[in-house]
Amino acid sequence: YSSLGLRGCKADFPLFRHRPELVFLDSAASTQKPQPVIDAIADFYARGYANIHRGAYRLSAQATDRFEAVRERAAQFFKAPAAESLIFTRNATEAVNLVAYSWGLHNLNAGDVVLVSEMEHHANLVPWHLVTGLRGARVEAVRMTPDGRLDLEDYAQKLQLPNLKLVALQHVSNALGTIHPARQLVDMAHAHGKPILLDGAQAAPHLPLNLTELGADFYVLSSHKMLGPSGVGCLIAAPDTLEAMPPFLGGGDMIREVYAERSTYADLPNRFEAGTPAIAEVVGFGAALDYLEGLGMEHIHAYEAELFHYALEQLNPIEGLELYGPDSDRAGVISFNVRGAHAHDVAGFLDEANIGVRAGHHCAQPLMRALDVESTARASFYVYNTKEDVDALARELRDIVNFFGENA
Ligand code: PMP
Repeated sequence: YSSLGLRGCKADFPLFRHRPELVFLDSAASTQKPQPVIDAIADFYARGYANIHRGAYRLSAQATDRFEAVRERAAQFFKAPAAESLIFTRNATEAVNLVAYSWGLHNLNAGDVVLVSEMEHHANLVPWHLVTGLRGARVEAVRMTPDGRLDLEDYAQKLQLPNLKLVALQHVSNALGTIHPARQLVDMAHAHGKPILLDGAQAAPHLPLNLTELGADFYVLSSHKMLGPSGVGCLIAAPDTLEAMPPFLGGGDMIREVYAERSTYADLPNRFEAGTPAIAEVVGFGAALDYLEGLGMEHIHAYEAELFHYALEQLNPIEGLELYGPDSDRAGVISFNVRGAHAHDVAGFLDEANIGVRAGHHCAQPLMRALDVESTARASFYVYNTKEDVDALARELRDIVNFFGENA
């Protein structure tokens, strides 16, 4: 154990040098960036930048090679079925929208059902509301258990819905940190012959993934939640699944031939990457994956589990603190409320003590309704967090609980 995070990595994050007082507990929203990621982006702009896939000159060809090398790198990192089945998007949200508007719009018909859960992030709900709305189809939700897991009995039952066309579930909850049994979710869907999308925005940063073995039909994630820059996400699917799908966005780079009246479309992966992508950000994402590999995803998972259990030990005894979510199978997320206080006020007090947490519905309003709360405060941990951070949180929360206890 080090007061500099997993393997001393906190020293690699310049933000903590510039703000030494900060206790950053909001990595589930977005993570800080290590120097190698910042350097990779700056270096690419300084020495290697040009638009890609237009390689009439060497600089552009080299930039294209750097960009495409990250695709290979990411496919290897996530153990995707093939490099061409990894599509770069702007973020996880856009990746879900790609599936909704390409696969969904063309496969859903009146009366069909998309099965989500009431734990989903809005990014895995609203695209389905939009597309089922266009097709006269509808969305149904698997229930959450009182301790914040997916209700697998309810899931098993809803998989039998006669017009079910697609399952779309999260791998890890952003609001509670619950790690769902992804393999089981996929196997159950497939046992009913249903394709499944997994929202891995909160799983990819925290767990070693083998997407080929997992076998989900669609998997989505965001770079900015795993030490990489914002502006880059991935959709990962089997090549034959993507091959059968029409384009989502149209424009340059995704075509084979264009006439004034009609066009034909490029092969994978370009068919799904219209327009100039976030080139330098993709390069930065590659550096983030290298950095994560250096730390080791197994180590990251184990380190966060240790921090999470330490946090539970510290926070559980605090009377007047309500904690949400299961006691095990959690990524480093703690959602809580101080009895008698609004989550935003709690977050405001914590901010005055230089502790950054998020407060609100965490883009998971149905989950908040299932918990019967309006909002929660959420502390989330990553590789650079330490037991001292947890101690600071616990210390402040004891004070806040006392304050609201006395003033209630
Ligand atoms: N799904 C989950 C579970 C998330 O936590 C988030 C981000 N909060 C998203 C999807 C959307 O990610 P992005 O905003 O990067 O598109």
